[in-house]
Amino acid sequence: MARFPWGYGTIESSFDLGDTGRHLEISLPEWTGAKAGQHIDIRLNHEDGSKTVRSYSLSSGPTDAAQISVERVEGGVMSTFLVDQVKDGDKVEVRGPIGSKFIYDEEKAQRPAILIGGGSGVAPLRGMWRAAKNYGSTVKLVYSVRTPDKAWFMDEIEAEGVDMLLKITRGEHATGRVNKEDLESVIAEFDNPRFYICGPNAFVDFIDETLVELNIEPGDVEKEKWG
Ligand SMILES: Cc1cc2nc3c(=O)[nH]c(=O)nc-3n(C[C@H](O)[C@H](O)[C@H](O)COP(=O)(O)OP(=O)(O)OC[C@H]3O[C@@H](n4cnc5c(N)ncnc54)[C@H](O)[C@@H]3O)c2cc1C
Repeated sequence: MARFPWGYGTIESSFDLGDTGRHLEISLPEWTGAKAGQHIDIRLNHEDGSKTVRSYSLSSGPTDAAQISVERVEGGVMSTFLVDQVKDGDKVEVRGPIGSKFIYDEEKAQRPAILIGGGSGVAPLRGMWRAAKNYGSTVKLVYSVRTPDKAWFMDEIEAEGVDMLLKITRGEHATGRVNKEDLESVIAEFDNPRFYICGPNAFVDFIDETLVELNIEPGDVEKEKWG
């Protein structure tokens, strides 16, 4: 049998994330939870027989039902399907959970975690702050968005008391990009933290290089890039 067999899940519920994203809860018959940071694959079967497969990080905590948070990419095959077309009750083909590297589990949660997300890269970090709550662990979120309306999960972050540094890069509320000084002051708040970075390539590379400049051991930094 394939290591990650395909199966059908049902869109249980969904809500908009700003005007370009959507959060989907998918019920899967054999779901027993996942590690924060893992992803699922979704497969679309087209009428001409071709298939599109894309990965989506789980934005759910380890004991939650499977949830993903998708940003619409203009002209994108899968993201426009998931954000604009799929309806609650629809079936989607899914495999997973998958991934063993970008993981925040109970063992890693023994150390404080600094979660650094750019845009939709906050998706797996949500799974991590939800996991941290289960484990009674410390996390801090550093979250970079273009404009305030692009900031996902703000109600939850406030309600759950997630410690956050929010940076807004454009428009009248701009506070700038995440920079070396931001990282330096966040690092100083914690004893021996680990780092989890997720977002666009350029964002992840910049943060990663800056952490090296700040003498953070590469082994203490987990990264996930998606375009
Ligand atoms: C491990 C992993 C986890 C991921 N988790 C998430 C997640 O939680 N949420 C999420 O929204 N996405 C996530 N992605 C990205 C996702 O898999 C798709 O790549 C994305 O949704 C675009 O797919 P699409 O079929 O809509 O676009 P495509 O049809 O593949 O691409 C259409 C056009 O858009 C460009 N493009 C593709 N992706 C991007 C992008 N991200 N930004 C700008 N332009 C792009 C392509 O170059 C192409 O020109 C993840 C990717 C990986 C590898």
